[in-house]
Amino acid sequence: MRVRRRSAFALVTLSSIALLGTTAPAVAAPDDGLLTAAATCSETPRELPINEFTDHRELGVELDRIERVSGGKVQVEQLGRSNRGREIHSARVGTGPKAVLLTSEIHGNEKTGTDAILDLLDFVGTSDSAKAKRWRSELTIVAIPKMNPDGAELDRRGNDMTWPEVTARHPQLRGVQPAWNYYTGSTQGDDYSKRPGFDINRDYHPDLNYVPRKEDFPGTSAQTGWYLSPETSIVRDVYRGLTAEFGKVDTYVDLHHQGACYVMPDDPEEFVTLSISGKFVDDPATTPGYEKYASKYDLKYSKQLNVAVNNALQGAANNRPVFGNVTLYPQDTNLPGTGLGSFALNGSGTVLFEVRGQTQTLGQQYRAVLTKSVYIGLDGMLSSIASGKVRTLDPADYDRIPPRGPNIGTAAEAEARLDG
Ligand SMILES: [Zn+2]
Repeated sequence: MRVRRRSAFALVTLSSIALLGTTAPAVAAPDDGLLTAAATCSETPRELPINEFTDHRELGVELDRIERVSGGKVQVEQLGRSNRGREIHSARVGTGPKAVLLTSEIHGNEKTGTDAILDLLDFVGTSDSAKAKRWRSELTIVAIPKMNPDGAELDRRGNDMTWPEVTARHPQLRGVQPAWNYYTGSTQGDDYSKRPGFDINRDYHPDLNYVPRKEDFPGTSAQTGWYLSPETSIVRDVYRGLTAEFGKVDTYVDLHHQGACYVMPDDPEEFVTLSISGKFVDDPATTPGYEKYASKYDLKYSKQLNVAVNNALQGAANNRPVFGNVTLYPQDTNLPGTGLGSFALNGSGTVLFEVRGQTQTLGQQYRAVLTKSVYIGLDGMLSSIASGKVRTLDPADYDRIPPRGPNIGTAAEAEARLDG
């Protein structure tokens, strides 16, 4: 009988590795062993510690610190406030002609992206290395970390906004059926009955000047969103401003987490560390109603950006194999109401990061290594954009990134599917 590898919830120690005896598979490094598929993996939501992640108050402190030590290279701005009144900040660095927009924590239970952005801002704002100088001269990086602070503080997917608050903000919607992405029940272990909210990653619209109309409700996942929430409206305003300033936003990246129990397609013993994608909408050229976006839509560039991300992670896998466990996120999605879908239709190259495990299944477990995987992918992508090399990458390499293997979790597949 095959000896199972370590439980995902057990600490690997030298003695426990030794106890596995001669049939134990080789473990490249202790932390890689921790991320290797185990006897059990569960998608069942549960209460787990998250205090090592950066909360909203700490984010403000850390952005202030980075702005200060950067000597003016990083500029922090308060963009506005969430529905519950929490500040939403942007941090801008670089003076280059290519605009790169980064967002994190639109789903408040998906937290590594915020920490990766802070690490990145710290580097590009303070380093005198040739790489940092090139980024600053070729790129203008604008980051909006923790763009859904209300959801983040509640440690849940949705924001914190009732339908009556929506109709108070948009009086023309009085009397219509609430949007399809309005949560009032239980989702991912969170009870929305007393504090309803929305999956605001379905609240975007490719028409950046769209105003909510009665006839567009309740909508569906295959249709556009509405900018109902202050959070998505703030990101839209930044995107619109960058488009006016630079002609277009070269690249947009949104940082997420997916289910904890996806395994590699060729090795059920290895968990997927990260899924990536550059495709979120059907081809606008052949989709009725979307033809006007076809001339700007650039799937080839999105594929090249994803190849740059994957190449960086495969390079890092030489030292730590876990970074090589990269797969493509499902390519059959058509989600024009996501930020990535809407901004791709406006001509930006787009990259989705889906790191392993949301907080209700992993808590802060593997926080450091998963944050590092996001950082490595962003670092490689930014270097490739700054040097221009990204435009020489073969988009066919994107299609050669393996698909996700199955989810071996023990809870309902429906929960695991709520990962975009
Ligand atoms: Zn997400």
